[in-house]
Amino acid sequence: MTETEVKRIKEIAGESFVKENVPMSDHTTFKIGGPADVMCMPQSKEQIIELLRVFRENGTDFFFMGNGSNLLVSDDGFRGVIVKLLDDFSDINLAQKGNSLIVNARAGARMWRLGMTILENNGAGFEFGTGIPGTIGGAVMMNAGAYGGEIKDVVSEASVVTRDGRILELSNEALDFGYRRSAVSDKGLIVLDVTLDLDMGDKNDIKAKIDELTEKRKTKQPLDVPSAGSTFKRPEGYYAAALIEEAGLKGFTIGGAQVSEKHAGFVINKGGATAADVIALTDEISRRVYENSGVRLELEVRKLGF
Ligand SMILES: Cc1cc2nc3c(=O)[nH]c(=O)nc-3n(C[C@H](O)[C@H](O)[C@H](O)COP(=O)(O)OP(=O)(O)OC[C@H]3O[C@@H](n4cnc5c(N)ncnc54)[C@H](O)[C@@H]3O)c2cc1C
Repeated sequence: MTETEVKRIKEIAGESFVKENVPMSDHTTFKIGGPADVMCMPQSKEQIIELLRVFRENGTDFFFMGNGSNLLVSDDGFRGVIVKLLDDFSDINLAQKGNSLIVNARAGARMWRLGMTILENNGAGFEFGTGIPGTIGGAVMMNAGAYGGEIKDVVSEASVVTRDGRILELSNEALDFGYRRSAVSDKGLIVLDVTLDLDMGDKNDIKAKIDELTEKRKTKQPLDVPSAGSTFKRPEGYYAAALIEEAGLKGFTIGGAQVSEKHAGFVINKGGATAADVIALTDEISRRVYENSGVRLELEVRKLGF
């Protein structure tokens, strides 16, 4: 990437919102990944559109991310620009309409903060999403879900931008949600903001539900060590964690990457894991699970820079 291009990106997003040679291990919950050439944190839709124009004109490779909680970045990093939509692009607005709470959030709003804001305003139905450690943009992209709830159940529409800079308003139907996919993932769209349509509920009940799910997560998941959540998608009719455990792989380790002893569905970084360790481990898990059960596992974690 040329100096002129980096200068242009700084003019658009603001000098302090653009960094060069950024270790992606600092920006992923896996704590893995080599350097990205440039990372920028735009604060408005206009900046995003302008950035896309510059990328197009220069033929620059780019990648939009949120909190990096579902990402495995290669040890070589990423040659291009990472556009990170997190706290600098995270406004939340709420309005009560009859018995509904309408919530509009910018893509970078963290699910926990969104959940707490919704709780304060007695909105019900988002409890399942509160413990997902990503952004609402990332959650819409992959139709994130937990404990019987999915993003598709609460989103009424989303404003997205195409990679060539066209803004589209997509209804829930047009978002075409499926299991851990959506029109956003299929078409490489970028989520700008999301509108949720929730019921009004009783604050104590909502809080009790969030507390119950938080406790479940703490008991069942290895939250004290770096990971990217569930490593594999749930194969139809099975549970990935059960298949991995049945193949005798709990605790199985390659380099610094390990199948969690606490929850076999999670690959964890025990310390110093490389992306190559994780790939070697997940390949071996897939091979042995197939050998043992005849079921093919598919990665849920998104790979970048391979
Ligand atoms: C401990 C732990 C527990 C987890 N539990 C769950 C769970 O219960 N359920 C669940 O579904 N997931 C879970 N996850 C995975 C992860 O939190 C979700 O997939 C989350 O939705 C990812 O959001 P993110 O902002 O971190 O996305 P990132 O990891 O930053 O990016 C993931 C993908 O989303 C894309 N993306 C991000 N933002 C946007 C945007 N604005 N527009 C378009 N694409 C975008 C990226 O390009 C990338 O392809 C867990 C992860 C961890 C570490």
